[in-house]
Amino acid sequence: MILPVITYPNKNLRKKSEELSVEKIASPEVQSFITDLIETMLKEDGLGLAAVQVDKHWRIFAVATEDGPMVFINPKISFKSWFKEMDEEGCLSIPGVFGTVKRPKAVIIKSLDRNGEKVSMKATGLFARVIQHEFDHVNGDLFIDKIQTVTRGQEILDEMKAK
Ligand SMILES: [Zn+2]
Repeated sequence: MILPVITYPNKNLRKKSEELSVEKIASPEVQSFITDLIETMLKEDGLGLAAVQVDKHWRIFAVATEDGPMVFINPKISFKSWFKEMDEEGCLSIPGVFGTVKRPKAVIIKSLDRNGEKVSMKATGLFARVIQHEFDHVNGDLFIDKIQTVTRGQEILDEMKAK
């Protein structure tokens, strides 16, 4: 089922999401939500989608990778490289706005997968960027807070901020 994506300045995007127990992750409610979250991300052509963006305040996000969609539950970033990179980002919840954001080039993320199993992985480049962008969503942070230069959609952003 495709879920509606909420957009800025909807205040629910600023809510901090809550952790899920392993029992809760196994529930049909959460399992079917994860399926819907992935389906919605793929349909909307997003590189990633956090639960908060479909107004569900669980610490879950999905990322589209070359090997297929991946799900991160109760994520923690345990390492950030000292070296940072600047690149352009956009967000399904802030349509039409793009800007450059400086982020660590590599991270190690520890989380649970949809079976409730612990997963730890190192991510670099675009994958690391998407993970950090989605991780921010889980904490109620948005990329526009970190933008250095708005590359497209300044007028859209001004209009949204005025709401
Ligand atoms: Zn986003």
